[in-house]
Amino acid sequence: MNDLTSLDMVSRLRSSGKRITPERKLLLRIIEQHAHLDAEEIYRIAQRDRPQIGLATVYRTLTLLKNLDIVRATDLGENHGHYEVRSEEHVHLVCSICGCVTDVPVPSALRAAAKKEQFAVQSTHFEIFGTCRSCSDKPSTASEAKRG
Ligand SMILES: [Zn+2]
Ligand SMILES: [Zn+2]
Repeated sequence: MNDLTSLDMVSRLRSSGKRITPERKLLLRIIEQHAHLDAEEIYRIAQRDRPQIGLATVYRTLTLLKNLDIVRATDLGENHGHYEVRSEEHVHLVCSICGCVTDVPVPSALRAAAKKEQFAVQSTHFEIFGTCRSCSDKPSTASEAKRG
């Protein structure tokens, strides 16, 4: 499965009878450029272009894009959705210190295990929590705490 381009996304919106409003276009562009933002972060960026945009519009649009399978939302351990353009299935490495998110491919062992169970995988959503490289390089508060 290839990544959706903005053109694909716009044509998908159009073919489902949805209007391409400037707000929808803007939000799509933001999600495309910055993966894994939550609704409020998307809202803040959108306001730079369209100060009049409302948070309710952002939520409504995100739900629409999700229902059309254009974007997907993942809970990165925060109990709310983080949005990204639907792309190849992947696993999220989430840094518990700086919150950065890295996409890595789904391990083939997992795919093989599901196949062995004759389980038809529709989507894979999971997160691995830990510390990213730049955070582990820093003399961290976590290791200071351990030293007591
Ligand atoms: Zn980090
Ligand atoms: Zn991702």
